[in-house]
Amino acid sequence: MSTRYIGRLAPSPTGLLHLGHAATFWAAYQRAQQHRGTLLLRNEDLDPQRSKQEYVNAMIEDLAWLGIEWTPPMVVQSERIAIYREAFEWLLASGHAYACTCSRRELAQMVAAPHEETDDEPVYTGRCRPAEGAAAQTLAAGMNYRFRLPDGEVVRFEDRNLGAQSFTVGEDFGDFLIWRKDGLPSYQLACVVDDAAMRITEVVRGADLLKSTARQILLQRALRLPAVEYFHTALLRDENGVRLAKRHDALAIRTLRKRGLAPADVLRMFGASPLAT
Ligand SMILES: [Zn+2]
Repeated sequence: MSTRYIGRLAPSPTGLLHLGHAATFWAAYQRAQQHRGTLLLRNEDLDPQRSKQEYVNAMIEDLAWLGIEWTPPMVVQSERIAIYREAFEWLLASGHAYACTCSRRELAQMVAAPHEETDDEPVYTGRCRPAEGAAAQTLAAGMNYRFRLPDGEVVRFEDRNLGAQSFTVGEDFGDFLIWRKDGLPSYQLACVVDDAAMRITEVVRGADLLKSTARQILLQRALRLPAVEYFHTALLRDENGVRLAKRHDALAIRTLRKRGLAPADVLRMFGASPLAT
């Protein structure tokens, strides 16, 4: 393997960084350091209602405080809408996507995915999916679009931390949203397009995103983008078994810092130790 390692941190500026984020970001930083690679920062600010500049500033400050170094410039998703739209229109023109007119209520009634652990959406039943061989659709404003998945396909990948993974289309997830009626790409589409554009070689993320990884592998293949390696980190839990990601405010990095904790104390809270470099 002669490819140079390029990793990324991809926070959403919708709140303060908490301990769960810090653990994942620390793992990403460590992976990049171990490979003498580069770590990039991507600001995933595609939620116009919840993304705030103050959280971007806080995130940059908290990363620096923790000792996590990244290579500028920061990639900002809200500045890249035209690039995502181009990828989406290609998927649409090649028959990989279709408009979905289901209401929120109809979607809620579809079968829930078996693993509630991942906060995942119900498996889409394919209600709006056009017949095989139907003419490709064109982009209309104010419409949601889904990615058409190969029925029953099993997505397998070897996770560099958790080992062999396998997910089945139609059981673990169904046709998922790639373009939203507010004219923005879904998380899945933006992520896949950016990982390719940034030449990411390994994605480090929490194990709650394993199914998203399987979805993204299918999107990569449809877009004919290069495959990426994955390293999923185990989810942090408190002493009662509650996922730390569920307990935002109390464990914000900022809160811990105000209580007088040092970066090394925070790293110890998730079983890591400062890197000797
Ligand atoms: Zn639908």
